[in-house]
Amino acid sequence: MSEPLAKLTKNEVIKAENPSLVGNIGVTLHDPEVDMFDADDQQFLKFHGIYQQDDRDLRKQGKKYMFMIRGRIPGGVVSPDVYLTYDRLSEEYGNKTLRVTTRQSFQFHGVVKSGLGSLMKGINDALSDTLAACGDVNRNVLAPPTPSTSHLTHQVYQDAKSVSEALLPTTKAYHQIWVEGQPLKLEQDDHEDPLYGKTYLPRKFKVAFVIPPLNDVDVLANCMGFVAIEKNGKLIGYNLTAGGGMGMNHNNENTYPRVADVVGFFKPENLIEVSKAVLTVHRDFGDRTDRKHARLKYVIAEQGVEWFRQQVNERAGSTLENPRPFEFTKQGDVHGWHEQYDGNLFLGLHVLSGRVKDTDQVRLKSALRKIVTEYRIEVRLTAAQNIVLTNITPDQRAAIDGVFAEHGVDTSQKQGVSEVQLGSMACPALPTCGLSLAESERYLPDLLGAVENLLDENGLGDERIILRMTGCPNGCARPYMAELGFVGRSPKKYAVYLGGNEEGTRLAWLYDQNVKVEEFPEKLGGLFSRFKSEREGDERFGDYCTRVLWPEQNAT
Ligand code: SF4
Repeated sequence: MSEPLAKLTKNEVIKAENPSLVGNIGVTLHDPEVDMFDADDQQFLKFHGIYQQDDRDLRKQGKKYMFMIRGRIPGGVVSPDVYLTYDRLSEEYGNKTLRVTTRQSFQFHGVVKSGLGSLMKGINDALSDTLAACGDVNRNVLAPPTPSTSHLTHQVYQDAKSVSEALLPTTKAYHQIWVEGQPLKLEQDDHEDPLYGKTYLPRKFKVAFVIPPLNDVDVLANCMGFVAIEKNGKLIGYNLTAGGGMGMNHNNENTYPRVADVVGFFKPENLIEVSKAVLTVHRDFGDRTDRKHARLKYVIAEQGVEWFRQQVNERAGSTLENPRPFEFTKQGDVHGWHEQYDGNLFLGLHVLSGRVKDTDQVRLKSALRKIVTEYRIEVRLTAAQNIVLTNITPDQRAAIDGVFAEHGVDTSQKQGVSEVQLGSMACPALPTCGLSLAESERYLPDLLGAVENLLDENGLGDERIILRMTGCPNGCARPYMAELGFVGRSPKKYAVYLGGNEEGTRLAWLYDQNVKVEEFPEKLGGLFSRFKSEREGDERFGDYCTRVLWPEQNAT
């Protein structure tokens, strides 16, 4: 007797019934009496780049609904006009901050429903959009943000843009609702996307481009990656990587973070066919009965890389060659002033947790507004939540430095903060993220202060450690690739991960699954003390943990 078919998830059912993703969004948007969307529309809104949230600090007084809106900004490249639009909209409709995401985008937070339509119209009027920034589709495509790393940066960025366009859903609902302002509701929905079909993907899909030796996008944490291969200064193709992903659930062995496999090499002219081939493998084989087990990484882990390679070859109509050799040496961003290939300059700015805002001491948001307005500077967002200002002429440098100094922004290479802060990331978590189990962004400054003190006490001064924190195991800030990762379990309790590496090629492992914040000084102090006395030469913390602590913990 054959096994009964497993039940499809609710998301699959509502996508099949409403493949245009219209839902009842337009009608609700124009109803001034309601401040939120219903459960089905909340799922459709994600495909439009919008999350409905509520302020969890205020829940005892009743739910106060608000929205997070995420831009689609391939490669994190933001023109001066788009930057100034995002800045203005965040002041008019958001909480007056912009947040650089770990996928090179901007998020608005704290937008109430009455401002949602105007904000979305404003984004689209500036020729930017939010389509497919969330939802069961391809998300924002990553590309190397730093113009000094390679003369291939622009070419690879153009390829990233092409893939972003090729993998966009074709529904007109987004335009009709947010640009034309139609309060439409379809009686019969027969839209069928030529790539995604009627039910889109089983889950989200993430893509990144990278140029070795710098792994500044954590390429192996993505569902699909493209590693640029050059010969005699020319891009000759890409190594395809596939099956990376961060999300997991505590205490569920069927879910786990995974580093992507290197699958094969192909020539640049096959880029779009290969991209679509990989995406459709996920579309056709991803688990639509369990959203926790629906990512492409599980398909590849369970079916094998050879099977996957054959699938891609058949679908792309070409043959992947053996991967070409490449090496990553480091991840992370460059801070301070540096020269570009063309003789112009760029300035890398560290942004703690990616939050662009004004404080009493540091008025980063005002400084950026003034500089982009006066000098028409292009802004790039990095996958480590930082900002790079590019194409600055040498004669503009002094004036720009002057504006930053007036606003309390440090433009030196050290940025006036510790190395551990420079290498840190945190997701937003509380109070806005509905999935958060513990604090992240709001707790990070305290955690950094404690870690800095402990490093000092152990004579480790300004040790470089990649530290990342998330409020839940979804892993938005990629904690499982960190040398020291914290993943929220419940209020003031975290799972601690150790052992990621500087190259971004190795997963961290679970060191302690339940550490209370008051235990951090003792536990972390003990780790740093052993690291200080047992490290070999200038061995990094993550390498030490994997060489010494992992075998100890796993000895039987
Ligand atoms: Fe929310 Fe979890 Fe992502 Fe943090 S990691 S933003 S808590 S879903």
